[in-house]
Amino acid sequence: MCGIVGYIGTKKACPILLAGLSRLEYRGYDSAGISTIEKNGLSLVKDKGRVKILENNPAINTLEGTIGIAHTRWATHGKPSKENSHPHQDNSKIFSVVHNGIIENYQELRNMLEKNGYTFLSQTDTEVIPNLINYYYKKEQEHDIHAFLKAVRNCCLDLKGSFAIEVISSEFPKNMIVVRKDSPLVIGTCESEKYISSDIPAILSYTRDFYFLNDLEFALLENTNTTFFNSNLEEINKPTSNIEWDATASEKNGYEDFMLKEIYEQPTAIRETIGSKISLESKCDFEELELTKDYLESVNKIYIIACGTAMHAGLAGKNVIEKLCRIPVEVDIASEFRYRNPIVNEKTLCIFISQSGETADTIAALKLAKLCGSRTIAISNVIGSSITREADYSIYTHAGPEIAVASTKAYTSQVVLLNMLALYFAEILEIVDMDLINNIKKEMLLLPKKIEETFSCKNSIQEFAKKIYQEKDVFFLGRGIDETVAKEGSLKLKEISYIHSESYAAGELKHGPIALIENGITVISILMDSSLIEKTISNIQEVISRGAKTLVVTSHDCNTTMFDEVIKIPDTIPYLSPILSVIPLQLLAYYISKEKGLDVDKPRNLAKSVTVE
Ligand code: GLU
Repeated sequence: MCGIVGYIGTKKACPILLAGLSRLEYRGYDSAGISTIEKNGLSLVKDKGRVKILENNPAINTLEGTIGIAHTRWATHGKPSKENSHPHQDNSKIFSVVHNGIIENYQELRNMLEKNGYTFLSQTDTEVIPNLINYYYKKEQEHDIHAFLKAVRNCCLDLKGSFAIEVISSEFPKNMIVVRKDSPLVIGTCESEKYISSDIPAILSYTRDFYFLNDLEFALLENTNTTFFNSNLEEINKPTSNIEWDATASEKNGYEDFMLKEIYEQPTAIRETIGSKISLESKCDFEELELTKDYLESVNKIYIIACGTAMHAGLAGKNVIEKLCRIPVEVDIASEFRYRNPIVNEKTLCIFISQSGETADTIAALKLAKLCGSRTIAISNVIGSSITREADYSIYTHAGPEIAVASTKAYTSQVVLLNMLALYFAEILEIVDMDLINNIKKEMLLLPKKIEETFSCKNSIQEFAKKIYQEKDVFFLGRGIDETVAKEGSLKLKEISYIHSESYAAGELKHGPIALIENGITVISILMDSSLIEKTISNIQEVISRGAKTLVVTSHDCNTTMFDEVIKIPDTIPYLSPILSVIPLQLLAYYISKEKGLDVDKPRNLAKSVTVE
């Protein structure tokens, strides 16, 4: 969940590493540190607290080296402290290491190393890594670059758990070794410089050419060259991938916060995700999926598996896939799916959604589904990310980098992509009327313009936020597709405003939760599906009778005197309505968070990509 940066090149490494750490700050962390190769050996500057504290450390100004590694830590083993901060070094101070992830068998390794005379300065799981490298390195006869590589490899083969690791050594002042397993790490390459990072946006201003490592592949870096090895240390070839994202896409561009910028980027994100795949003249084209009619007819169940907001997008996907394809769809939380012995086989198709493509639980669930014989499709926003490398097929949202922890444009892009996937399946299966298919396509193409129109609710939402920002509890209600949006609205509010909120299927309220409704409590309802609107209004009446304050998001003409606030937004078909109805809820969470003076982009306790279990 923390961040890793590395640089090997011709310039001073330190400013580049600090800039990289700042760009990774959004991922959530508690300490920061850096190590460079200097003329007199390895430097080490680290402390608990923000990157700013590291920048202001006087030792930072003395660093001249052109090779270095840096880290922001999100503590898993040992409290945030200077000693526990990364980088960590071996007892002889030959190796500096940064690590993202968890070493599950660290205690066993630590006991073994202690028996061999090694001592430890921290409580972290990570500190076994530099010492284990040292242990293996000392066993080698020749202390050449191959011995360094072999020591890192032997160490990594002993590690259980997840890791992205960078290693530098005072004995090899022109090199760095990086490796990963179940934790993210990318390598950006230019002619005479290499940049390493936990994610692409942090180094996008330097290069568009990236290498992606698979689990337990090792990269031996020099400034002009990168050599890749598999876990047997046989050399392997690796192509570069060109990333088209615009470097300015990871800047705030005049917006106060990334979240607000990303909310306003939704028309573009949707337009880019649709691309040229949807037209009234031709079938929806996902040739990369290679799914035949025979295969789709053999599928008796589809699973959509994801976490958090991506799981909410999956609920909208279930709605459209079931209606158009008549195949049962089950949406599951990745961390539950993986431990419940799911009924998955060659007749199930499993779709995995992760914005970053690095969500640990989703990756683990994907591996399980593959083992059970299911075909797998990954939906991600990041080309080359782990889930896209694990899955049989991958399709992408083209939302551009999403930096704010609370997901907005990734959610709406995922909902659009799932609708496109449903259309693709339906066109192959030929079981729905072309008029319905064409109607969905027409409405989909109108979405960017309708999202722009939806933004006009901003002032009313801002006013409403001022009225309710001190509330302790908020309820969200909806039926059918509107309930899936209620869930997402509730999650957004919790994430960034720290207000407790619950979402309920409107009809379920009277089976228990209505006991919590009391005078003055805020209830927010989504009323988009015209076939269910009367039913939901009756449920809202029930809470009004018990003194609730109500806000309604709707595309219909409602009796405005009945509710405290009505947010009228453009109409669309129910399949696509989450993409419009979620926008007032995103803005509400945003403005409540601002009213409370909170850090919108970096909410407490949360990290952008959850790379640990
Ligand atoms: N498990 C390591 C620690 O607690 C690394 C945590 C991280 O990924 O930041 O130091």
